[in-house]
Amino acid sequence: MTPGGKYLKNRVVSGYRPSGRLHLGHYHGNLKNMVRLQETHQCFFFVADWHMLTTGYRDTSMLGRWTSDMVLDWLAAGLDPDKCTIYRQSDVRAISELHLYFGMVTTLGELERNPTYKEQLRELGSRVTNTYGFLGYPVLQATDILAVDAELVPVGEDQLPHLELTREIARDFNSLYGEIFPEPQPILSTSPKIPGTDGRKMSKSYGNYIGLDESPEEIARKVRKMVTDPARKRRSDKGHPEVCTVFTLCKIYCPDDLDALAGACREAGIGCTDCKDRLAERVAGDLAPLRERRRELEKETGLVAAILGRGAQVVNPIVEDSCAKARAAMNIGSL
Ligand code: SF4
Repeated sequence: MTPGGKYLKNRVVSGYRPSGRLHLGHYHGNLKNMVRLQETHQCFFFVADWHMLTTGYRDTSMLGRWTSDMVLDWLAAGLDPDKCTIYRQSDVRAISELHLYFGMVTTLGELERNPTYKEQLRELGSRVTNTYGFLGYPVLQATDILAVDAELVPVGEDQLPHLELTREIARDFNSLYGEIFPEPQPILSTSPKIPGTDGRKMSKSYGNYIGLDESPEEIARKVRKMVTDPARKRRSDKGHPEVCTVFTLCKIYCPDDLDALAGACREAGIGCTDCKDRLAERVAGDLAPLRERRRELEKETGLVAAILGRGAQVVNPIVEDSCAKARAAMNIGSL
C-alpha cells in the first residue's frame, strides 16, 4: 500500500546522488518517468547520499544543502509524497549492514567489468576514483534495490549492466544461503539520451549541464555555447542536423517544426544562432512552471525534513526485515 493508501502495481525503486540542483539530463532521463510511475506503481525514491561519497568524499560540506535542493526539485517536477515514498539512504542504516553481506559474495571481476566504472575512470581520473568505495559502488546500488524487495527498476540502456550485476548478486546470495532476494527487472527508459552543451552526456561532473532552475538568460547563454555540426563553420555552410547536439534537444523541445528546421539547416536557410535562440526560448518556457513551483516550495520551512522523516518511517522496517532474513540465513549472530 502506498503512503496515499492506494493498492498499486509492483514496487519500483530509484535513487539519485545529491550533487546539487537537477538538470535536463535528470529531468528527461528519469524524473518525468518517476512522476508517471507514482500514479501506477508503489514507488520508493531515495536520495543516494552515501553514493555521493564514492566520488565526492573529500568535500562533504554541501551534502545537506544538495539533499534539500534535490528533494525540492523532485517536488517541483511533480513528485508527490502522498503518492510515493521519498527517503534518504543514510536514514536507513540497515542498508549498510546488507551492503556488507552483499560485498562478501561479489567478485572483483564482476565489479571491474562494469562499463560505467571504466568510463568514469577515464573521465574523472584515478585520483578521484581509485578507491575501494568507488569500485564497490554497484554493490551499494544492488543493496538499495534488494533491501526494499523492489521488483522493478527504471533504467536507461547504459545502466542495464548495473541491474544485471544486481541480479547476479541476488542469484549468488540465494544460491549460497537460500531464496531470499527476488531478482529485479528493468523498466527500460524510452527517453533519448540528453547531450550536454559540449556534446557529451549531460552531467554535473562534466560541467556541461542546463539546470532546471536556471533563468531564461542563463539558459540562452548556455545554449548559445552549445556545440553544433562541426562541418558548419560559416552561416552559408549547409548543415547536418543528425550530428548536431542542438538538434538532439530540438527533437524534444521543437517537435512541431522539426522537419522544417532540419530542412532549413541542410539548405543553410537558418543560422545556428537563430536555431539556438529558438531552442533556448522553448526550454525556458517549459521550465518556467517548475521554477515557479520551486520558489513556492522553498518558503515552506521544514518541508524536506518532514518528507524524509516520513519516508524513513516507511522504509526502515522493510529494510530491517530484509536484513534480519539475510543475517539469519548466513548464521550471523548464531551461537
Ligand atoms: S542550424 Fe541548428 S541544427 Fe543546424 S547545425 Fe546549426 S544549430 Fe545545429
